[in-house]
Amino acid sequence: MSQDTQSSITAQEYISSQNALEKQARELMPYDPNTCTYSMGSIRQQIYACLTCLEKTNQLSGVCYSCSIQCHHDHNLIELFTKRNFNCDCGTTRTQFPCSLRSNSKDDLPSNDNIYNQNYKGIFCDCSKPYNPLEEKSNMLQCIFGDQCNEDWYHDYCIMGLDHYDVDDTNHDDNDKSVNKLDSLGEPEQDAQTQLEKNLQNNDSIGDKRKQDDNPDDQDSEPVLNGFPNLDDFDCFICWKCINHHKPIFDKIKLNNEIVLTTVDKITSKSLIERNEIIKSNTNSLLHKKRKIDYDYSIFLKHNHEENFTYLYNTTTDQEIKSFLQTHPHLLKDEPIYEPPQDESDDDNSSIYDLGARAINNLPRDKAIEGVQAYQNIKDKLKEFLKPFAKDGKIVGEEDVKGFFENIKK
Ligand SMILES: [Zn+2]
Ligand SMILES: [Zn+2]
Ligand SMILES: [Zn+2]
Ligand SMILES: [Zn+2]
Ligand SMILES: [Zn+2]
Repeated sequence: MSQDTQSSITAQEYISSQNALEKQARELMPYDPNTCTYSMGSIRQQIYACLTCLEKTNQLSGVCYSCSIQCHHDHNLIELFTKRNFNCDCGTTRTQFPCSLRSNSKDDLPSNDNIYNQNYKGIFCDCSKPYNPLEEKSNMLQCIFGDQCNEDWYHDYCIMGLDHYDVDDTNHDDNDKSVNKLDSLGEPEQDAQTQLEKNLQNNDSIGDKRKQDDNPDDQDSEPVLNGFPNLDDFDCFICWKCINHHKPIFDKIKLNNEIVLTTVDKITSKSLIERNEIIKSNTNSLLHKKRKIDYDYSIFLKHNHEENFTYLYNTTTDQEIKSFLQTHPHLLKDEPIYEPPQDESDDDNSSIYDLGARAINNLPRDKAIEGVQAYQNIKDKLKEFLKPFAKDGKIVGEEDVKGFFENIKK
Protein backbone atom coordinates (compact mmCIF):
# COMPACT_ATOMS: atom_id res chain seq x y z
CA MET A 1 0.00 0.00 0.00
CA SER A 2 1.31 3.43 -0.83
CA GLN A 3 0.03 6.85 -1.70
CA ASP A 4 0.24 5.82 -5.29
CA THR A 5 -3.31 4.62 -5.87
CA GLN A 6 -2.05 2.04 -8.37
CA SER A 7 -0.47 -0.01 -5.60
CA SER A 8 -3.06 0.71 -2.92
CA ILE A 9 -5.93 -1.58 -2.17
CA THR A 10 -9.43 -0.56 -1.33
CA ALA A 11 -11.10 -1.81 1.76
CA GLN A 12 -13.40 -3.77 -0.51
CA GLU A 13 -10.44 -5.62 -2.02
CA TYR A 14 -9.08 -6.30 1.41
CA ILE A 15 -12.41 -7.70 2.56
CA SER A 16 -12.55 -10.00 -0.46
CA SER A 17 -9.15 -11.46 0.34
CA GLN A 18 -10.20 -11.76 3.97
CA ASN A 19 -13.25 -13.73 2.94
CA ALA A 20 -11.13 -16.02 0.84
CA LEU A 21 -8.88 -16.75 3.81
CA GLU A 22 -11.85 -17.41 6.03
CA LYS A 23 -13.25 -19.77 3.45
CA GLN A 24 -9.94 -21.62 3.55
CA ALA A 25 -10.16 -21.90 7.33
CA ARG A 26 -13.69 -23.25 7.04
CA GLU A 27 -12.61 -25.82 4.52
CA LEU A 28 -10.05 -27.14 6.99
CA MET A 29 -12.57 -27.14 9.83
CA PRO A 30 -15.93 -27.39 8.11
CA TYR A 31 -18.17 -28.52 10.94
CA ASP A 32 -20.18 -26.74 13.55
CA PRO A 33 -18.22 -27.52 16.73
CA ASN A 34 -20.99 -27.19 19.27
CA THR A 35 -22.02 -30.75 20.03
CA CYS A 36 -19.93 -33.20 21.98
CA THR A 37 -20.61 -36.77 20.81
CA TYR A 38 -20.42 -38.26 24.32
CA SER A 39 -24.18 -38.78 24.61
CA MET A 40 -24.22 -40.62 21.26
CA GLY A 41 -22.24 -43.46 22.79
CA SER A 42 -19.64 -45.51 20.95
CA ILE A 43 -19.64 -44.51 17.31
CA ARG A 44 -17.29 -44.33 14.37
CA GLN A 45 -16.00 -40.78 14.33
CA GLN A 46 -13.04 -38.47 13.98
CA ILE A 47 -10.90 -38.66 17.11
CA TYR A 48 -8.08 -36.53 18.46
CA ALA A 49 -5.67 -37.83 21.05
CA CYS A 50 -4.82 -35.30 23.74
CA LEU A 51 -1.19 -35.49 24.84
CA THR A 52 -1.57 -32.61 27.28
CA CYS A 53 -4.29 -34.44 29.17
CA LEU A 54 -2.17 -37.62 29.02
CA GLU A 55 0.71 -35.83 30.67
CA LYS A 56 -1.52 -34.45 33.36
CA THR A 57 -3.54 -37.58 34.20
CA ASN A 58 -1.25 -40.32 32.96
CA GLN A 59 -4.26 -41.80 31.13
CA LEU A 60 -4.67 -42.18 27.39
CA SER A 61 -7.63 -40.29 26.00
CA GLY A 62 -9.34 -39.32 22.78
CA VAL A 63 -11.77 -36.47 22.22
CA CYS A 64 -14.36 -35.71 19.55
CA TYR A 65 -14.17 -33.06 16.83
CA SER A 66 -16.10 -30.42 18.77
CA CYS A 67 -14.14 -30.96 21.98
CA SER A 68 -10.86 -30.75 20.08
CA ILE A 69 -11.89 -27.20 19.15
CA GLN A 70 -13.91 -26.03 22.12
CA CYS A 71 -12.23 -27.70 25.09
CA HIS A 72 -8.70 -28.80 24.13
CA HIS A 73 -7.78 -26.16 21.55
CA ASP A 74 -4.65 -25.10 23.42
CA HIS A 75 -3.63 -28.68 24.21
CA ASN A 76 -1.24 -30.80 22.22
CA LEU A 77 -3.62 -32.77 19.98
CA ILE A 78 -2.86 -35.58 17.55
CA GLU A 79 -5.36 -36.11 14.76
CA LEU A 80 -6.16 -39.83 14.56
CA PHE A 81 -8.76 -39.56 11.78
CA THR A 82 -11.52 -42.08 12.31
CA LYS A 83 -11.86 -44.79 14.94
CA ARG A 84 -14.76 -47.18 15.24
CA ASN A 85 -16.67 -47.74 18.41
CA PHE A 86 -15.20 -44.81 20.29
CA ASN A 87 -16.77 -42.46 22.79
CA CYS A 88 -15.44 -38.98 23.57
CA ASP A 89 -13.34 -38.84 26.77
CA CYS A 90 -13.62 -35.11 27.30
CA GLY A 91 -14.88 -34.25 30.76
CA THR A 92 -14.66 -37.80 32.07
CA THR A 93 -12.29 -39.07 34.71
CA ARG A 94 -9.82 -39.87 31.93
CA THR A 95 -9.15 -36.28 31.02
CA GLN A 96 -10.17 -34.76 34.36
CA PHE A 97 -10.98 -31.68 32.40
CA PRO A 98 -14.46 -30.14 32.41
CA CYS A 99 -16.15 -30.36 29.03
CA SER A 100 -17.39 -26.94 28.02
CA LEU A 101 -20.11 -28.48 25.85
CA ARG A 102 -21.69 -30.73 28.48
CA SER A 103 -22.87 -29.49 31.83
CA ASN A 104 -21.88 -31.59 34.83
CA SER A 105 -19.48 -33.57 32.68
CA LYS A 106 -17.35 -34.27 35.73
CA ASP A 107 -19.86 -36.97 36.72
CA ASP A 108 -19.54 -38.73 33.34
CA LEU A 109 -17.70 -42.01 33.21
CA PRO A 110 -15.46 -43.00 30.33
CA SER A 111 -16.84 -45.68 28.02
CA ASN A 112 -15.73 -49.27 28.55
CA ASP A 113 -15.80 -49.78 24.77
CA ASN A 114 -12.89 -47.49 24.12
CA ILE A 115 -9.68 -49.27 23.20
CA TYR A 116 -6.46 -47.30 23.28
CA ASN A 117 -3.57 -48.32 21.11
CA GLN A 118 -0.25 -46.54 20.74
CA ASN A 119 -1.89 -43.89 18.51
CA TYR A 120 -3.22 -42.25 21.66
CA LYS A 121 0.40 -41.59 22.68
CA GLY A 122 1.01 -40.00 19.30
CA ILE A 123 2.88 -42.94 17.79
CA PHE A 124 1.98 -45.06 14.79
CA CYS A 125 2.85 -48.19 12.83
CA ASP A 126 4.81 -51.34 13.65
CA CYS A 127 7.89 -49.13 13.99
CA SER A 128 6.18 -46.96 16.66
CA LYS A 129 7.16 -43.60 15.28
CA PRO A 130 5.50 -40.22 15.82
CA TYR A 131 3.86 -38.74 12.77
CA ASN A 132 5.24 -35.50 11.42
CA PRO A 133 3.29 -34.39 8.35
CA LEU A 134 5.96 -31.90 7.36
CA GLU A 135 8.71 -34.51 7.29
CA GLU A 136 6.89 -37.72 6.44
CA LYS A 137 7.71 -38.74 2.89
CA SER A 138 6.20 -42.18 2.81
CA ASN A 139 2.54 -43.00 2.38
CA MET A 140 0.75 -44.08 5.51
CA LEU A 141 -2.28 -46.35 5.42
CA GLN A 142 -4.83 -47.16 8.08
CA CYS A 143 -5.75 -50.80 8.63
CA ILE A 144 -9.45 -51.11 7.91
CA PHE A 145 -9.88 -54.33 9.87
CA GLY A 146 -8.37 -53.26 13.14
CA ASP A 147 -9.26 -56.02 15.55
CA GLN A 148 -5.61 -56.59 16.48
CA CYS A 149 -4.05 -53.24 15.65
CA ASN A 150 -7.03 -51.05 16.61
CA GLU A 151 -7.02 -49.35 13.21
CA ASP A 152 -3.38 -48.34 13.42
CA TRP A 153 -1.59 -46.50 10.63
CA TYR A 154 1.34 -48.04 8.75
CA HIS A 155 4.18 -46.76 6.62
CA ASP A 156 4.20 -48.32 3.17
CA TYR A 157 7.83 -49.36 3.69
CA CYS A 158 6.99 -51.07 6.99
CA ILE A 159 4.21 -53.01 5.26
CA MET A 160 6.92 -54.33 2.93
CA GLY A 161 9.30 -55.13 5.77
CA LEU A 162 11.77 -52.37 4.93
CA ASP A 163 13.56 -50.51 7.70
CA HIS A 164 13.08 -47.06 6.31
CA TYR A 165 11.75 -45.10 3.42
CA ASP A 166 14.24 -43.39 1.20
CA VAL A 167 13.49 -42.11 -2.25
CA ASP A 168 15.99 -39.32 -1.86
CA ASP A 169 18.96 -40.44 -3.90
CA THR A 170 21.26 -37.53 -3.24
CA ASN A 171 23.86 -39.51 -1.32
CA HIS A 172 23.77 -42.94 -2.86
CA ASP A 173 26.62 -44.59 -4.67
CA ASP A 174 26.44 -46.87 -7.67
CA ASN A 175 26.58 -50.03 -5.59
CA ASP A 176 23.15 -49.22 -4.26
CA LYS A 177 21.62 -49.65 -7.66
CA SER A 178 21.71 -53.38 -7.44
CA VAL A 179 20.00 -53.29 -4.09
CA ASN A 180 16.32 -53.35 -4.66
CA LYS A 181 14.62 -56.24 -3.03
CA LEU A 182 11.23 -55.01 -4.08
CA ASP A 183 11.66 -55.40 -7.80
CA SER A 184 10.10 -58.79 -8.04
CA LEU A 185 7.69 -59.04 -5.19
CA GLY A 186 5.20 -60.60 -7.56
CA GLU A 187 7.54 -63.60 -7.54
CA PRO A 188 8.62 -63.53 -3.93
CA GLU A 189 10.30 -66.91 -4.08
CA GLN A 190 12.74 -65.83 -6.75
CA ASP A 191 14.74 -62.78 -7.63
CA ALA A 192 13.82 -60.52 -4.76
CA GLN A 193 14.86 -63.08 -2.23
CA THR A 194 18.01 -64.02 -4.01
CA GLN A 195 18.89 -60.37 -3.88
CA LEU A 196 18.18 -60.13 -0.18
CA GLU A 197 20.09 -63.29 0.57
CA LYS A 198 23.07 -61.90 -1.25
CA ASN A 199 22.89 -58.81 0.88
CA LEU A 200 22.66 -60.85 4.04
CA GLN A 201 25.68 -62.89 3.03
CA ASN A 202 27.60 -59.74 2.24
CA ASN A 203 26.83 -58.58 5.73
CA ASP A 204 25.13 -55.55 4.28
CA SER A 205 22.99 -53.59 6.59
CA ILE A 206 19.45 -54.69 5.88
CA GLY A 207 18.36 -51.11 6.32
CA ASP A 208 20.24 -49.92 3.30
CA LYS A 209 17.60 -50.85 0.76
CA ARG A 210 16.48 -47.76 -0.94
CA LYS A 211 14.19 -47.56 -3.83
CA GLN A 212 16.03 -46.13 -6.75
CA ASP A 213 14.17 -43.86 -9.06
CA ASP A 214 16.46 -43.20 -11.95
CA ASN A 215 13.84 -41.52 -14.06
CA PRO A 216 14.00 -37.76 -13.43
CA ASP A 217 10.72 -37.31 -15.32
CA ASP A 218 8.92 -39.00 -12.47
CA GLN A 219 9.87 -36.31 -9.98
CA ASP A 220 6.40 -34.79 -9.85
CA SER A 221 4.36 -37.93 -9.41
CA GLU A 222 3.70 -39.27 -5.94
CA PRO A 223 6.49 -41.71 -5.23
CA VAL A 224 5.25 -45.23 -4.62
CA LEU A 225 7.66 -47.88 -3.46
CA ASN A 226 8.60 -50.42 -6.05
CA GLY A 227 6.41 -53.46 -5.55
CA PHE A 228 3.79 -51.49 -3.65
CA PRO A 229 0.35 -51.23 -5.29
CA ASN A 230 -0.61 -47.92 -6.84
CA LEU A 231 -2.59 -45.89 -4.31
CA ASP A 232 -5.48 -45.35 -6.74
CA ASP A 233 -5.85 -49.03 -7.48
CA PHE A 234 -7.06 -50.20 -4.06
CA ASP A 235 -9.61 -48.96 -1.57
CA CYS A 236 -8.06 -49.95 1.73
CA PHE A 237 -5.76 -52.46 3.35
CA ILE A 238 -5.71 -55.01 6.16
CA CYS A 239 -2.47 -55.28 8.12
CA TRP A 240 -0.52 -58.51 8.64
CA LYS A 241 -1.15 -58.40 12.39
CA CYS A 242 -4.90 -58.61 11.94
CA ILE A 243 -4.47 -61.22 9.20
CA ASN A 244 -2.25 -63.43 11.37
CA HIS A 245 -4.99 -63.53 13.96
CA HIS A 246 -7.37 -65.07 11.40
CA LYS A 247 -4.78 -66.70 9.16
CA PRO A 248 -6.74 -69.71 7.83
CA ILE A 249 -9.65 -67.48 6.85
CA PHE A 250 -7.54 -64.83 5.14
CA ASP A 251 -5.51 -67.53 3.37
CA LYS A 252 -8.78 -68.38 1.66
CA ILE A 253 -10.05 -64.83 1.17
CA LYS A 254 -6.81 -63.66 -0.43
CA LEU A 255 -7.48 -65.99 -3.35
CA ASN A 256 -10.72 -64.18 -4.19
CA ASN A 257 -9.72 -61.68 -6.83
CA GLU A 258 -13.11 -60.02 -6.88
CA ILE A 259 -12.31 -58.77 -3.40
CA VAL A 260 -8.54 -58.68 -3.19
CA LEU A 261 -6.41 -56.58 -5.53
CA THR A 262 -3.14 -57.98 -4.27
CA THR A 263 -1.22 -59.05 -1.21
CA VAL A 264 2.12 -57.64 -0.11
CA ASP A 265 4.55 -59.87 1.76
CA LYS A 266 6.44 -58.46 4.68
CA ILE A 267 9.88 -59.78 3.83
CA THR A 268 12.21 -59.06 6.70
CA SER A 269 15.75 -60.15 7.37
CA LYS A 270 14.42 -62.35 10.17
CA SER A 271 12.03 -64.24 7.90
CA LEU A 272 14.83 -64.79 5.41
CA ILE A 273 17.19 -66.14 8.04
CA GLU A 274 14.47 -68.54 9.15
CA ARG A 275 14.01 -69.62 5.58
CA ASN A 276 17.72 -70.25 5.18
CA GLU A 277 17.66 -72.42 8.29
CA ILE A 278 14.93 -74.57 6.81
CA ILE A 279 16.75 -74.89 3.52
CA LYS A 280 20.01 -75.82 5.26
CA SER A 281 18.31 -78.44 7.37
CA ASN A 282 16.86 -80.22 4.38
CA THR A 283 18.49 -79.52 1.06
CA ASN A 284 16.91 -82.51 -0.62
CA SER A 285 13.42 -81.15 -0.61
CA LEU A 286 14.43 -77.57 -1.18
CA LEU A 287 11.62 -76.67 -3.49
CA HIS A 288 9.08 -78.20 -1.24
CA LYS A 289 10.47 -76.41 1.79
CA LYS A 290 10.60 -73.11 -0.01
CA ARG A 291 6.86 -73.19 -0.41
CA LYS A 292 6.38 -73.84 3.25
CA ILE A 293 7.73 -70.46 4.25
CA ASP A 294 4.87 -68.34 5.41
CA TYR A 295 5.65 -64.69 5.12
CA ASP A 296 3.45 -62.27 6.94
CA TYR A 297 1.34 -60.50 4.39
CA SER A 298 -1.08 -57.58 4.12
CA ILE A 299 -4.14 -57.58 1.89
CA PHE A 300 -5.17 -54.73 -0.40
CA LEU A 301 -8.90 -54.63 -1.05
CA LYS A 302 -10.54 -53.53 -4.28
CA HIS A 303 -12.83 -50.53 -4.43
CA ASN A 304 -16.01 -52.62 -4.55
CA HIS A 305 -14.89 -55.09 -1.90
CA GLU A 306 -17.95 -54.55 0.34
CA GLU A 307 -20.28 -55.58 -2.44
CA ASN A 308 -18.20 -58.64 -3.18
CA PHE A 309 -17.82 -59.58 0.47
CA THR A 310 -21.62 -59.44 0.67
CA TYR A 311 -21.89 -61.64 -2.41
CA LEU A 312 -19.41 -64.07 -0.88
CA TYR A 313 -21.37 -64.09 2.36
CA ASN A 314 -24.63 -64.84 0.56
CA THR A 315 -23.27 -67.54 -1.68
CA THR A 316 -20.48 -69.32 0.17
CA THR A 317 -20.94 -72.84 1.44
CA ASP A 318 -17.85 -72.44 3.62
CA GLN A 319 -19.24 -72.13 7.13
CA GLU A 320 -15.93 -70.80 8.47
CA ILE A 321 -15.99 -67.87 6.08
CA LYS A 322 -19.66 -67.29 6.69
CA SER A 323 -19.37 -67.02 10.44
CA PHE A 324 -16.20 -64.94 10.13
CA LEU A 325 -18.05 -62.40 7.99
CA GLN A 326 -20.96 -62.52 10.37
CA THR A 327 -18.75 -61.52 13.27
CA HIS A 328 -17.00 -58.81 11.21
CA PRO A 329 -19.96 -57.12 9.51
CA HIS A 330 -17.98 -53.99 8.69
CA LEU A 331 -16.37 -55.96 5.88
CA LEU A 332 -19.83 -56.29 4.31
CA LYS A 333 -20.85 -52.73 4.95
CA ASP A 334 -18.71 -50.33 6.92
CA GLU A 335 -20.33 -48.20 9.57
CA PRO A 336 -20.80 -44.63 8.34
CA ILE A 337 -18.50 -42.06 9.91
CA TYR A 338 -20.37 -39.64 12.16
CA GLU A 339 -20.16 -36.10 10.87
CA PRO A 340 -21.05 -33.12 13.01
CA PRO A 341 -23.49 -30.74 11.29
CA GLN A 342 -21.95 -28.45 8.71
CA ASP A 343 -21.17 -24.96 9.86
CA GLU A 344 -23.66 -22.95 7.77
CA SER A 345 -22.75 -19.57 9.12
CA ASP A 346 -21.32 -17.00 6.70
CA ASP A 347 -20.82 -14.51 9.48
CA ASP A 348 -17.14 -13.84 9.79
CA ASN A 349 -17.60 -13.39 13.54
CA SER A 350 -18.90 -16.94 13.85
CA SER A 351 -17.41 -19.15 16.49
CA ILE A 352 -16.27 -21.74 13.93
CA TYR A 353 -13.83 -19.36 12.35
CA ASP A 354 -12.17 -18.09 15.50
CA LEU A 355 -12.21 -21.39 17.35
CA GLY A 356 -11.29 -23.30 14.23
CA ALA A 357 -8.34 -21.06 13.61
CA ARG A 358 -7.19 -21.55 17.18
CA ALA A 359 -7.54 -25.32 16.90
CA ILE A 360 -5.69 -25.34 13.61
CA ASN A 361 -2.71 -23.90 15.46
CA ASN A 362 -2.45 -27.17 17.32
CA LEU A 363 -2.91 -29.46 14.34
CA PRO A 364 -0.10 -29.50 11.85
CA ARG A 365 -1.88 -29.70 8.52
CA ASP A 366 -0.21 -27.83 5.78
CA LYS A 367 1.60 -24.66 4.85
CA ALA A 368 -1.77 -22.96 4.41
CA ILE A 369 -2.07 -23.02 8.17
CA GLU A 370 0.86 -20.67 8.62
CA GLY A 371 -0.97 -18.13 6.53
CA VAL A 372 -4.18 -18.53 8.46
CA GLN A 373 -2.23 -18.24 11.68
CA ALA A 374 -0.41 -15.06 10.77
CA TYR A 375 -3.59 -13.61 9.44
CA GLN A 376 -5.53 -14.43 12.59
CA ASN A 377 -3.09 -12.40 14.66
CA ILE A 378 -4.04 -9.07 13.16
CA LYS A 379 -7.44 -9.88 11.73
CA ASP A 380 -9.65 -8.34 14.37
CA LYS A 381 -7.69 -5.11 14.74
CA LEU A 382 -7.38 -4.63 11.04
CA LYS A 383 -11.07 -5.19 10.54
CA GLU A 384 -11.99 -2.52 13.06
CA PHE A 385 -9.55 -0.16 11.43
CA LEU A 386 -10.90 -0.74 7.93
CA LYS A 387 -14.57 -0.47 8.76
CA PRO A 388 -14.89 3.28 8.08
CA PHE A 389 -12.98 2.94 4.81
CA ALA A 390 -15.30 0.20 3.65
CA LYS A 391 -18.34 2.27 4.53
CA ASP A 392 -17.29 5.19 2.32
CA GLY A 393 -15.50 3.19 -0.38
CA LYS A 394 -12.37 5.17 0.54
CA ILE A 395 -8.89 4.09 -0.52
CA VAL A 396 -6.48 3.05 2.22
CA GLY A 397 -3.30 5.08 1.94
CA GLU A 398 0.22 4.74 3.30
CA GLU A 399 -0.31 7.17 6.15
CA ASP A 400 -3.39 5.29 7.28
CA VAL A 401 -1.50 2.03 7.36
CA LYS A 402 1.46 3.55 9.21
CA GLY A 403 -0.93 4.98 11.75
CA PHE A 404 -2.56 1.62 12.18
CA PHE A 405 0.67 -0.19 12.96
CA GLU A 406 1.90 2.60 15.24
CA ASN A 407 -1.32 2.24 17.18
CA ILE A 408 -0.75 -1.54 17.48
CA LYS A 409 2.78 -0.94 18.76
CA LYS A 410 1.46 1.38 21.44
ZN1 LIG B 1 -16.59 -34.49 23.02
ZN1 LIG C 1 -6.71 -32.14 26.57
ZN1 LIG D 1 -15.41 -31.28 25.65
ZN1 LIG E 1 6.45 -47.79 10.23
ZN1 LIG F 1 -4.75 -54.28 11.51
